[in-house]
Amino acid sequence: MKTDILIIGGGFGGAKLAQFLHKAGVQSLLVDAKDYFEVTFATLRNVAAPEKTGDAARKYYKDFIHGDFIQARVTNLTEETASLDNGDTIAFKQAVIASGSSYSHLPMAKSVTSLSLTDRNAEMAREHDKLAKANKVLIIGGGIVGVELAGEVADAHPHKTVVLAHNTQTLLDNFKPKAQRVATEQLKNLGVQIEYNRHYQQTDDGIIDKHTGEPMDADLVYLCVGTQPNNQFLKPHLAHILNDQGMVNVDNNLRVIGATNLYALGDIADVGEGKLGYLAGGQAQYLAKQIIADQQVKNNKAYKRNPLMALIPTGQTTGVVQLPFAVTSMKFMVNMKQKDLFISKIYKEMR
Ligand SMILES: Cc1cc2nc3c(=O)[nH]c(=O)nc-3n(C[C@H](O)[C@H](O)[C@H](O)COP(=O)(O)OP(=O)(O)OC[C@H]3O[C@@H](n4cnc5c(N)ncnc54)[C@H](O)[C@@H]3O)c2cc1C
Repeated sequence: MKTDILIIGGGFGGAKLAQFLHKAGVQSLLVDAKDYFEVTFATLRNVAAPEKTGDAARKYYKDFIHGDFIQARVTNLTEETASLDNGDTIAFKQAVIASGSSYSHLPMAKSVTSLSLTDRNAEMAREHDKLAKANKVLIIGGGIVGVELAGEVADAHPHKTVVLAHNTQTLLDNFKPKAQRVATEQLKNLGVQIEYNRHYQQTDDGIIDKHTGEPMDADLVYLCVGTQPNNQFLKPHLAHILNDQGMVNVDNNLRVIGATNLYALGDIADVGEGKLGYLAGGQAQYLAKQIIADQQVKNNKAYKRNPLMALIPTGQTTGVVQLPFAVTSMKFMVNMKQKDLFISKIYKEMR
């Protein structure tokens, strides 16, 4: 098989890029290990309160991607070809590495094993059943995902005990102090018990407190830590393009440093801004222009990095918004996301 532009990974970055290139008349082929796209923003509520979101967060690629798509996993990439797990090889003029990241301990966030939409819907239903049966839920990690999950569980299941354990003195470590304070208050109002400076450790005997050696005391544990870049297929031939954290080094035009013909974007790339879906989408918009400029041997402006902005729901009605110069919990801002967790916005942007 041959293609002009091979896009590896159809997350917020890769899927959007495929749509932009198709609109611009650039031939591309999108390859993803799964047969569906998923709006990760909605997965936590999908498990805590499935009646609110249904399965609307997920769609088959074939139902909205306009250009070429194949379902396969890239197992090995060189600067000219990609080998797939079905035995095929794809030759390309240029390739975009958009393989994102995984939460290996938290399958509800991004699935590791469910490659078909039907399997994923079943996996989410099983996750909900596990939660429904638990009385005490322990959430380890007070970053965005842990905070959001604590809010969703406590709001949808007020009679459960929800404990959020974090290893420093404040939740949401990289956020502004006001955002940390507001989110903490909102979680406490929902009855979430927050434990600071708690260090849990995975051992052969299960999860234990690192200092006391006591086993964790809960019916259900969610490990909201340890996101990993999806870079296995780069290691055989392209290990030199990875930094110490396993992310791909890119220049100001999102070209891969140390390789020709390759670009990278989104969670897998060391772009120098937050690891968020809306930023991966912005990078895709930029990269479409960059690819066209490269094909026409024209110069393009450098990619402009964005400050961290985030709208973190804490349950179904409250939340906190961090903007570049302000933090707010005003209803009309929070409700922009609470309406449907941006599911319709994301699919509208990818039409
Ligand atoms: C629970 C949760 C809530 C979040 N909420 C928000 C939010 O509200 N706002 C926000 O902006 N961001 C949010 N994020 C972050 C956001 O999901 C990520 O930043 C975003 O998914 C990154 O997009 P991406 O395109 O780089 O990669 P990903 O979305 O990780 O997609 C990568 C794709 O590549 C595929 N892939 C990987 N390896 C291969 C391979 N070898 N061969 C073929 N295909 C491969 C995968 O199947 C996947 O489809 C949230 C994340 C989580 C987990």
